[in-house]
Amino acid sequence: MEQIFIKGLPKVELHIHLEGTLDTNLIVELAEKNGIRLPRPKEELITFSGLADFLELLNWICSLVRDGSDARRLAYRFAQYASGQNIMYAEVMTNPTHWKALPYSELIPHILEGFEQAYGDGYCDCRLLVSLLRSQTRREALEMVRWMKTNRHPRLLGLSVDGNEAESESSNRELYEAFWEAKNAGFGVTVHAGESSPAAGVTEALDLLGAMRIDHGVRAVADERLLKRLSEEQIPLNVCLTSNLVELYPGVDQHPLGKLYELGIPVTVNTDDPELLGIDLCGELELASGAYGWDRADLVRLEKNAVRAAFCDEETKALLFSKLEAYCRIWRIAF
Ligand SMILES: [Zn+2]
Repeated sequence: MEQIFIKGLPKVELHIHLEGTLDTNLIVELAEKNGIRLPRPKEELITFSGLADFLELLNWICSLVRDGSDARRLAYRFAQYASGQNIMYAEVMTNPTHWKALPYSELIPHILEGFEQAYGDGYCDCRLLVSLLRSQTRREALEMVRWMKTNRHPRLLGLSVDGNEAESESSNRELYEAFWEAKNAGFGVTVHAGESSPAAGVTEALDLLGAMRIDHGVRAVADERLLKRLSEEQIPLNVCLTSNLVELYPGVDQHPLGKLYELGIPVTVNTDDPELLGIDLCGELELASGAYGWDRADLVRLEKNAVRAAFCDEETKALLFSKLEAYCRIWRIAF
């Protein structure tokens, strides 16, 4: 697949965590501004081995954000970066439990403002999903959703949950009321499942939490009935290839993305934590097209899947589709 096609393709990203988008330069800049010593030399800053190490690094990075201007800055920086990848629209998750120095009532409005400023300056159209942690309680989850309901913003689109899915059996009982309250209030709801949990985690996310789409979901591949359901009900799976190669599959050939696509399940390709993984969306699309023999039309189909799966309004979707269609005309691809 030609890099030039992938680079120019108007793209959508739906599974990305703001916590994983801070590049080394921004990390150093924030550390210097806030008088925080780097734990190791700049060149070795983003290194980790195993999940515990990864979470420690992530929490340290987030602890550098000390005030609203820091939060606005990193939101703006992400939108700028995304535009460089020709990502025209992104739904970015943030999990307030990681940002220890700022309460969510301050963090979220400043992130939204950063996105708004960036869009006004012609950068990527970024929206925010607030992510709960699997270990949070019913009370904390409901408090979060009620805050979202009373602090509505056109860029605040939904609720998600991430963290260790092994805890999902008990945590679904804690979180389901918050999820249904968010959904009934018109927010989109998405759930990390089928990564550190087996296929049953995906079924529970759909049935207990009312998930409208699934982040990862790749382990659904072990359950034929679930696969049929995902295809028939057209439930989107927001897949992250390289992220799964770290924990789940030894190589891209063993990853089920190609099979899920063949089954007609509306999959999308995403980066999860691009800076921490040292990847970008163009590279992930190149990796996937090489592994599964996808052509230009296949990549356009993935982007159409992503636009359909987005939580934004129909007018925004129409605009995104028109940008894709214009690109297809240039490359003579049936839309
Ligand atoms: Zn994720």
